[in-house]
Amino acid sequence: DAPAAGKLCTRYDLEKETELRFEVEAGEAAEQVELELLTGMAEVFGSELNRNKKYTFGPGSKIAVFTWQGCSVNLFGKPEAAYVSKDTPMLLYLNTHAALEQMRKQAERDNERGPRVMVVGPADVGKSTVCRLLLSYAVRVGRRPTLVELDVGQSGVSVPGTVSALCIERPADVEEGFSVQAPLVYHFGSTTPGTNIKLYNKLTSCLAEVFSQRCEVNRKASVGGCIINTCGWVKGSGYQALVHCASAFQVDVVLVLDHERLYNELKRDLPHFVRVVLLPKSGGVVERSKECRRETRDEKIREYFYGFRGVSFYPFSFEVRFSDVRIYKIGAPSIPDSCLPLGMSQDDTQLKLVPVTPGRDLTYHVLSVSSAEDGEEGVRKGIVESPVCGFIVVTNVDTQTQVMKVLSPAPRPLPRHTLLIMDIRFMDMK
Ligand code: ATP
Repeated sequence: DAPAAGKLCTRYDLEKETELRFEVEAGEAAEQVELELLTGMAEVFGSELNRNKKYTFGPGSKIAVFTWQGCSVNLFGKPEAAYVSKDTPMLLYLNTHAALEQMRKQAERDNERGPRVMVVGPADVGKSTVCRLLLSYAVRVGRRPTLVELDVGQSGVSVPGTVSALCIERPADVEEGFSVQAPLVYHFGSTTPGTNIKLYNKLTSCLAEVFSQRCEVNRKASVGGCIINTCGWVKGSGYQALVHCASAFQVDVVLVLDHERLYNELKRDLPHFVRVVLLPKSGGVVERSKECRRETRDEKIREYFYGFRGVSFYPFSFEVRFSDVRIYKIGAPSIPDSCLPLGMSQDDTQLKLVPVTPGRDLTYHVLSVSSAEDGEEGVRKGIVESPVCGFIVVTNVDTQTQVMKVLSPAPRPLPRHTLLIMDIRFMDMK
């Protein structure tokens, strides 16, 4: 895997406790950047690098190569920005890991449960990166922590518009992140919790319940605890959603990244036994524009259908008759309290299943395939709380023949016939 001939090669000698930060230009035509560790030891967001192996980073990647003892690395290609920083919060993050590890040891000794940690902060402070780091460190010392992904805008586990949980069994791959096998995924349907906060809180509770059940039967999962990644919305209902999450998961530790007010509010509002810790953000975290976030979301959906780099998937395209499926949207538009039918509250409307009549406007929408058993009215109740078994995208709708064409990771027939519509669209350019 020699780098392309003629690629620019730059060597960096890093002193101990420093990091090399670089960005790869965004856009399809951008050139990839390769990284090679020559001497010493280094890690990328908690995952160790192997010596003399070339790691490739695609367009838009923002990477930090950190070394505890000192190292030298080569960068091949033209990164957009590349510089060495001596000023990193890595020691504080490592201490946080050490404290969590103490809690796991104690849990093991006393036959209790391990730490449940919620990571919070505004957008672009490195929440996902801190989660990845803490999970990778935990798994490197033999733990089996669970990642709970509540960021519906930028999910690290599944497609956008979902919340999920994933058991972590090995450190994140340097290039590809955590291996996603058998995650538990719930349909939310849009990229901000604000579109349906009741549903968001409900799904948080569902995840918490399933996680607790798993902890009861799996000692390693219980001791490993969980790391919860949250959305960057920390005001109003967004803040209330954080408080709800802390209570649903009965978190022991909250890590607040770079937001003193949020830190103080959580200290005030959470029970006194919850340890709320304020941590600085890394100067390396790069702000992402709306456009950049949209692209990342699109990429995540593309990966779901077509695979990532080395692994290519070949999705299927087939027709589905309207009469063979039931499509719902979760949440009816809110109406004034005075207009609600007697005995009904706004909560009911936000969790209500609204049947969707297929029409042209369904084209390009992502649909979740609910794992709820197909059945009549009676089972509709469980649909909101049922995990999803996969996703399809509507590529064409023919109202004349009452048929729609879908892109699906598996061949026909669909495993289930209850579909939930997302606000999110995906245009398949392949
Ligand atoms: P969101 O607002 O989407 O929740 P976030 O707070 O979770 O964002 P991250 O996704 O962790 O932030 O980080 C944003 C970007 O910064 C990522 O592309 C990540 O790879 C990059 N990044 C994080 N830490 C560093 C660092 N020390 N040096 C360089 N890049 C970094």
